[in-house]
Amino acid sequence: MIPVVNPDLCIGCGNCEEICPSVFQLIDEKSVVVDPGACDFSECCEAAAENCPAEAITLEEDA
Ligand code: SF4
Repeated sequence: MIPVVNPDLCIGCGNCEEICPSVFQLIDEKSVVVDPGACDFSECCEAAAENCPAEAITLEEDA
């Protein structure tokens, strides 16, 4: 699974970066998926998605 952030929904709270800093980084107050393959544990990205107050993170099938 690949995490995807919708920048139109992201409010820049930083939760996802705190949970999984190797995958998510705040850039200009928006979360950016800097390395979707950095997280081997899908639970980590699931936790980030579940803890996103804006529901801006979705997990998509990787190609
Ligand atoms: S948890 Fe959601 S709203 Fe907060 S920075 Fe990450 S993507 Fe944006």
